[in-house]
This record gives sequence, C-alpha cells and structure tokens, in this order.
Amino acid sequence: MNVNHLDQIVRAIRTAKTILVATHVFPDGDALGSQLGLANILEGMGKKVIRYSEEPVSYLYDFLPECDKLICGLPDLTQVDCAIALDCGDCFRLGKAAEALLTVRPLIVIDHHAGHKEFGDIRWVESGRSSTGDMVFELAKALETPISRDAAYCLYAAIVADTGSFKYASTTSATFAIAGELVGLGVNPEQVAGKLFDNFTESRLHLLQAILSTLELFADGRLALITATRAMFESTGSAPEDSESFINYPRALASVKVAVFLKEKEGAIGVSMRSKGSGYDVAEVARRLGGGGHRNAAGCNFRNGETLAEVRERVFSLLLPLVGA
Ligand code: 5GP
Ligand code: MN
Repeated sequence: MNVNHLDQIVRAIRTAKTILVATHVFPDGDALGSQLGLANILEGMGKKVIRYSEEPVSYLYDFLPECDKLICGLPDLTQVDCAIALDCGDCFRLGKAAEALLTVRPLIVIDHHAGHKEFGDIRWVESGRSSTGDMVFELAKALETPISRDAAYCLYAAIVADTGSFKYASTTSATFAIAGELVGLGVNPEQVAGKLFDNFTESRLHLLQAILSTLELFADGRLALITATRAMFESTGSAPEDSESFINYPRALASVKVAVFLKEKEGAIGVSMRSKGSGYDVAEVARRLGGGGHRNAAGCNFRNGETLAEVRERVFSLLLPLVGA
C-alpha cells in the first residue's frame, strides 16, 4: 500500500501545540530513532512534545540522544492536539495504549510496512522506503524546519538499523542521499555503527553461543532455523532483547534463502523470519500466522500456550513449500 498525505500531515503539525509521538512495542532502532528524531524536530519548532513508550528504553538503544525524555505512563490525552504513530504496521503494535491513542484527533500514521493495516486519520505509508527514519527526514524538509545534530543522529541510526547497514533491498540511492545529508549535519557513522553493532555484553555473547549451537538446516541449506529457550536466557543471565539481530547469523549462510528464529518468551513464542530476494516473501507467511512485517523481514507471536515443537510445525508447514522443499 502506498498513500502519501504529507501535505495534510504538515498542516496538522503546524496547527498543533502539543503533539504525542509514539511507536511500536519492543521498539527497534528505526522505531526509537524515528520517534526521538521527530520529537526533537518538533520541539525545535516550538511544539510541546510527549514521547510515549510502553516500556523503558532497552540498553541496546540508550545511546540515542534524549531517550531519557521517553515517558512510560500514558499522559492526559485531553491536552494532546495531535498524535503521531511511527513505524506501526498495525494499530495493535501500539500496545496497551492503542485504544486510547486511537481516540486522539488527528492521529497521524507514518509507516513503511508492506502489509500495513490502515488506522488513524492521516496516513503516509510507503512500503518502498528503507525506514521510517528516512520518511521523518523528508517530513522535516516539508516542514521547512532545521534538523539538529541530535535529530540527525537519531534518524541516521534509524536508517542504519532498518537497512542492516545499507545492505537490504530497500536501500536505494535516495537512502544514501539522506544518510549523506545526515552525516553532513555532524553524525559520525563509525560512532553510530559502534553503538548499534559492537555493543555486546559478555552474557549476550554467551547467549549467542548457546543459540547458534541449535542451528538446523533444511531443504539443502535453503532454510535455516535457530531456537532460543527460556533456559538459555536464564543460564547466561540474558534479557529477551539480548537476542535481537541474532537472526542475521543464519541468514548470513550463502545457501540460505529463509532464516527463522524461534524465541521462547514469557507468555509467548516469538517467530522472527528473514529472507533474501523477491522470491521469498516472509511478510505473507507472518500475516498468515497473525503477524506482519516486510517482504524480507517479518515476525509473529504465538500466545496461546503453544509449545516450541507446535510453533515449529506451523511455521515449517508454510516455509518448506516457500523454499521449494
Ligand atoms: P523482528 O523479527 O525483528 O522481531 O521483526 C521483523 C519485522 O516484523 C518488523 O518489521 C516488525 O515490525 C514485524 N513484526 C515482528 N513481530 C510482529 C508481530 O507480532 N506482529 C506484526 N504485525 N508485525 C511483527
Ligand atoms: Mn521500520
């Protein structure tokens, strides 16, 4: 789905005094980077900004400027003139606050998920964009407002995180042009990459060791599976977010077309999927399992007490045919 109501978004922002900026639960680098970047830009315009988040920022992203300004409890929404949902392909991804946020008028939605499920009053959804961060950059241009070094840092981190360091198919010359402008505003790429990727704790490295030992290959190596059990998190003293991006290791195998990561979490089994190229649409698989995402990066969650073995069977019944097994 591609809709672009940028002009309406600009008008709504210009007239609002107090703006709430939200993103999806368990926010990743693009979610937090675009949220904090946009919040900084709006404050630069003299707006009162509320940065809402369901949970405190994970240590993985606590290097992002102004992440200490995130507010976890939902504030009095009667004082809010406009809310903006970033990087949310589905209103349920707003978490516990979804119902309340849907009552704010106008609710602006800026997103780049392929299977976006419409919500809100003014939508700008472009599935071809590398990240929500690069859309926020364009919004700042349309608002004709300066981008501070802190905002540039957040937006650059968002783009790097969601393109896997400019590796994924969504990376275009426009992505590089935006990243180039952000670097021109004072962002140090080496520093951002270090914070995003060379940030391991010892327990996280031990968790990686345990999870990689579960690697299984199917369909002549075209399908790879890794699994994380609760016991692995406990024995290594790791938190759930410590396994973020581990899916990239099985994806890195030359033979692999689709990689799957099953995560045993509290009250749910999470499924992360990554694929290469246009022939392997994991977003469609995730949608059929009640989740969503992008063609080459998608996920879903099983919350009805299913076992790892049951989830694996459900996921494989869709993935084995996809990889031609
Ligand atoms: P990850 O594997 O990094 O958790 O997620 C990859 C992509 O799938 C992200 O774009 C994320 O928004 C989407 N995704 C992951 N889990 C879910 C889910 O439970 N529901 C939906 N709608 N999307 C998800
Ligand atoms: Mn994103």
